[in-house]
Amino acid sequence: MRIAVPTEIKNNEYRVAITPAGAHDLIAAGHEVTVQSGAGVGSSIPDSAYSDVGVTIVGDADETWSTADLVLKVKEPIESEYRHFRSDLVLFTYLHLAADKPLTSALVDSGMTALAYETVELPDRSLPLLAPMSEVAGRLSAIVGANTLLKPAGGPGLLVPGVPGTHPANITVIGGGVAGTSAAHVALGLGAQVTVLDTNLSRLREIDALYGGRIVTIASNAVEIERSVVGADLVIGSVLVPGARAPKLVTNKLVRKMRQGSVLVDIAIDQGGCFEDSHPTTHADPTFTVHNSVFYCVANMPGAVPHTSTYALTNATLPYIRSVATNGWKVAAARDQALAKGVNVHGGSIANAGVAEAHGLRV
Ligand code: NAD
Repeated sequence: MRIAVPTEIKNNEYRVAITPAGAHDLIAAGHEVTVQSGAGVGSSIPDSAYSDVGVTIVGDADETWSTADLVLKVKEPIESEYRHFRSDLVLFTYLHLAADKPLTSALVDSGMTALAYETVELPDRSLPLLAPMSEVAGRLSAIVGANTLLKPAGGPGLLVPGVPGTHPANITVIGGGVAGTSAAHVALGLGAQVTVLDTNLSRLREIDALYGGRIVTIASNAVEIERSVVGADLVIGSVLVPGARAPKLVTNKLVRKMRQGSVLVDIAIDQGGCFEDSHPTTHADPTFTVHNSVFYCVANMPGAVPHTSTYALTNATLPYIRSVATNGWKVAAARDQALAKGVNVHGGSIANAGVAEAHGLRV
């Protein structure tokens, strides 16, 4: 199969949909891989790293898209990319169609097949192509939080691990799923005293076993959230209620009771945020102040670490890409229920129940 990877052109998107190792794997399986010149530069991957493993480098987007059977991307196509759509093309990328009517219409009208990373779903309901970005955002949240506790960043001037004879930082993580466990992992590694709250007791048992009791696990409810947040130097919000906006678990009234210079990182901001005062911010201007606390609410945290994010994403997508390239998407989806859930648009109609419902239709 002819597989092509264009340069991402959405504002501030520096990831690329394939690594040289991933391209090498596909070429070894007999496929042709084309990458647009400069596509990897934002992730610190030069063209030469691709050409060294046998990738064909082409000059522009038109040439990249027009030669392909399968196009791999990271972000959903923006309007200027719709002109590349054609009925015999398969596109595999993050799509987020439920909230994007123009893109959904363009894909449906084109007659092409569009597979979405975010709706690939394993039988246990986990989302294997979203998990790597939650891992990145979670690990990063403890680092940006620790940095924001420094005086020059507007914090109280607190060194997370302290030094012998001083108190380390108290870090509270609300929501112990993929992002929250990743946050707690790094917070513990930085030497903080870490508490994780979750409504799911099985999850808390797993965390307790995994870290040998070194992370305090607490059943999440309003009373325990208040107790933990008031005593925290850094609060990381990482809850998810599937299919719903994030619940507002830390109110403005509660923030007023927090320590001077405390920091709140809202990872769940892409689902509306789990703190009452959260609003989305950007990497260029990531923080704002509420009462005496500093909020960090960047909606695309992995964008700060495109190199790591690119490798993490490709590690997860490659088995699915390999299967689609080798078997064709139809056979691949028939053999793998997880991938079948990724089929969002095909033959002029919406093929995913959730996406159809979001547009007032039925599959
Ligand atoms: P997940 O499903 O793995 O974990 C969510 C956890 O929240 C679950 O363990 C669940 O039991 C828990 N939870 C639900 N309600 C709760 C409550 N009231 N109190 C405490 N815990 C509660 O989800 P995830 O993959 O870790 O994602 C977490 C959030 O991070 C999502 O909103 C996701 O969209 C977001 N995210 C943001 C970025 C970013 O750049 N900002 C990047 C990746 C993911």
